[in-house]
Amino acid sequence: MPTLLVDVAVPVPLPGTFTYRWPADRDDPPPGSGDLVRVPFGRRRGLVGLVTDVRELPEDVTEVDGAPLRDVTDRLPGSYRLAPDRMRLAAWMAGYYALPLGEVVPLFHPPRPGTRRRRARAEHPAYPLQDPTSITLTEAQREVVARAEAQLASGGFGSILLHGVTGSGKTEVYLHVIARALEQGRSAIYLLPEIALTPQTLGRITERFGDSVAAIHSDLAAGERSRVHEAAARGEVRVVVGPRSALFAPVRDLGVIVVDEEHESSYKQDDKPRYHARDLALVRGREAEAVVLLGSATPDLASWHRAAEGRHQLGVLPDRLGGAMPAVELIDLRGQAAPDGFSEPLLEAVAETVAAGRQVILYHNRRGFARQLQCRDCGEIVMCPHCDIGLTVHLRPRRLLCHYCGFEREVLDACPACRSPAFLPGGGGTERTELVLQASIPEARVLRLDHDTTRRRGSHARILGAFAAGEADVLVGTQMVAKGHHFPGVALVGVLAADDGLSLPDYRATERAFQLLTQVAGRAGRTGAGRVLLQTWQPEHPIILAAVDQDYRGFAHLELAQRRLAGYPPFRRLLRLGLSAPRQATVERAASQLAGAVGRELADHCEVLGPAPAVFARLQNRHRQQVLLKGELSRAQKDWLARCCRALRDAHRGVDVVIDVDPVGLY
Ligand code: ADP
Ligand code: ZN
Ligand code: ZN
Repeated sequence: MPTLLVDVAVPVPLPGTFTYRWPADRDDPPPGSGDLVRVPFGRRRGLVGLVTDVRELPEDVTEVDGAPLRDVTDRLPGSYRLAPDRMRLAAWMAGYYALPLGEVVPLFHPPRPGTRRRRARAEHPAYPLQDPTSITLTEAQREVVARAEAQLASGGFGSILLHGVTGSGKTEVYLHVIARALEQGRSAIYLLPEIALTPQTLGRITERFGDSVAAIHSDLAAGERSRVHEAAARGEVRVVVGPRSALFAPVRDLGVIVVDEEHESSYKQDDKPRYHARDLALVRGREAEAVVLLGSATPDLASWHRAAEGRHQLGVLPDRLGGAMPAVELIDLRGQAAPDGFSEPLLEAVAETVAAGRQVILYHNRRGFARQLQCRDCGEIVMCPHCDIGLTVHLRPRRLLCHYCGFEREVLDACPACRSPAFLPGGGGTERTELVLQASIPEARVLRLDHDTTRRRGSHARILGAFAAGEADVLVGTQMVAKGHHFPGVALVGVLAADDGLSLPDYRATERAFQLLTQVAGRAGRTGAGRVLLQTWQPEHPIILAAVDQDYRGFAHLELAQRRLAGYPPFRRLLRLGLSAPRQATVERAASQLAGAVGRELADHCEVLGPAPAVFARLQNRHRQQVLLKGELSRAQKDWLARCCRALRDAHRGVDVVIDVDPVGLY
C-alpha cells in the first residue's frame, strides 16, 4: 500500500480542505472519499472531518507547500461514511449558505460521547387513537396518498405541499405514505418543529411502526445518539423522527421525508452553521430521489408560492375530522375597560366554560407579569444595561428580568428619572393572566405553560399531561400552547392580545401573527363545539379579519401581493449580513466598509440596503448593524462575500460578521 494524501474538510472557519497523510505502513483500511476521519488541527486533536479526495503518492513525502504533513489520526467506522446523497447535500449546503464545507460536517455525525447532552427518555402521553387498522382514509386523504404513492413508484423526486387545518388528517396521510415506503424496503425521515412540544405525534409514529422508529432529539445522551445513527446506517432503524437535525440521519434508501408544520421558524437554525431544514429537506429529497411531504394548516408563503408555480404538487384536506372548525369572534378592546388585559366578555366566557365542565386555553405571547415597568409621569422605562430591551416584570420571584440575556434586578417602586411613585407595570404577560384568573374565577384550576414553568426536566410533559387528563380547567401559556396538542376537552380559546406582533419591524411579522392566531384557534373544539375569542385593538386589520374567517388563501393572496410590491421573498431573495462589536463606532465603521465593498462588487446582482442599526441595536453589550442584500447571488458571489467578511473580521478587532442566507427574522 502506497502512502496516501488525504484531503479533509475540517470543521474550522477557514475555506477549503486540508491535506493529511495516510502512511504506507498502516494496516487499518485507508479512507476514501465520503469517509469521516479524525485529524489534528493546530493544537487541537480529534477533529472529525470529511474526506473529499484521496491520492496516491509515488514516494513518501513529509511536507506540502513547505508545511509539514500531519497524519490522519484514524478513520471512523464505515457506518459514519457519507453516502453519495448525503455527500451532495453537504456540498450543496456549503455552497448555498456560504459556509466552509468542514463547518457543515458536524451535522452529519452524532456528537462525541461524553459531551454536554444528558440522558433522558422522551415521554409519550397516551394518545386516544382509534385503532389504526380501523381507519379508512377519506376521499381527500386517499387522493394525496395516491399521488405520493405514484411518486414513490416512479422512483424519482417529488414534493407535495399538504394544506389542511388542524385535525384534518394530515398526520394520518404522512403515516400511510411512510408505511408504503417501508413496504418497498425504503426509509423515512419525519421532521417535527420541536419534539418536546409534540409528544403525541411521536407516540403515534412509534405506535404505528414500532421498533423501526427512533427519535433523535437534543435531550438524547451522546451514546444513545450514536446508537441511533449506527442503527439507521445499518438499516435497522427505518423511520427517524426528530427536529431539524434529524434531516441529516444516515438512513438507508430514503423514500420519504415528512416536514410537519413546515412553516415553523424552528426549522431555521440561527446559529452557525445557519440553514433551513425545510429547504434542505427538498435538496436531500432530490439527491436521494425521495418524496418530500410538507404539511401545514398555514403554509409558509414561500412554499405556497412554490406550489402556485407548480414546483410542489398541492394536496388539500379541506375539512376537520370529527368536529367543525370553531367560530372565531373579536372583542374590540377600544373603549373597553380591560383591567389587567381581560375584557369583561372574555372573563365571562371563561367562567361559563369552566362552569360547564369544559376546558379553556388562554394565549399570551409574552411570559412574565408585565412587559415593562414604566413611569406614568415621564415615560421612563427600565432597560437592560446590556441590551436595548426593556426589562420584563416578574412577580414570583419578584424581579425585573431581561428576556434576552437573563440580566435581573430588583423591582423599583419609584421612577429613577423623576422620582414619581407612579412607576407601574404596563402590558400583560402569562403570569399576570394566571393571577387575574385566580382572583376573578377562584374555582377555576389553572395551569401555566411557558418558559418559566418548564425549566425543569419533564415539566413540560407533566403540565400537558395534567391538562389532557382534566386535572385543570384552564391552560395559560405562550406560543407553547399553540402547538400540535390534541385536547378533546377544550371548548374555548382566548387570545389576550391578538395584534401583538403585527407591528414588529419585520416583513414576516404579519405572516407569523396570522399563523399563530390560526394555530391557537385550532386548539378549540377538536371534538364538539368550540369558540375562539380574540381581543384586539385593531378589529379592522386585514390580518385579524383573515384570522377570524380562518381564510388562509385570502391571507396568502393579500400578503403575497404586498411582498411582490415591496420586493421581498418569495419574489426576491434576501441575504442578511449581521455585524456586531463591543464598540458602536467600530461596528459602524466596519458595516459601512462592508456595504461599500458589496456595493462596488455586487451592485449589478443585488440591491444593497443599509448599513443600518439592527432592530435590537444592542444585545449582550454588543452593538449591532446590518446590511441587507436583495437579489439572487451565485455560489461564486457568495464565496466572494464570505472572503470579504473574513477579511473584515481580521481588519477590525472585536467585529463579528454573520452571513444569513434567507433570514427568517430581520432582528
Ligand atoms: P392533523 O395532522 O391534520 O392535525 P390528524 O391526522 O391528527 O390530523 O387527524 C385528526 C384526528 O382524526 C386524529 O384523531 C386521527 O386519528 C383522526 N383521523 C385521521 N384520519 C382519519 C380517518 N380517515 N378516519 C377517521 N379518523 C381519522
Ligand atoms: Zn418618571
Ligand atoms: Zn439583556
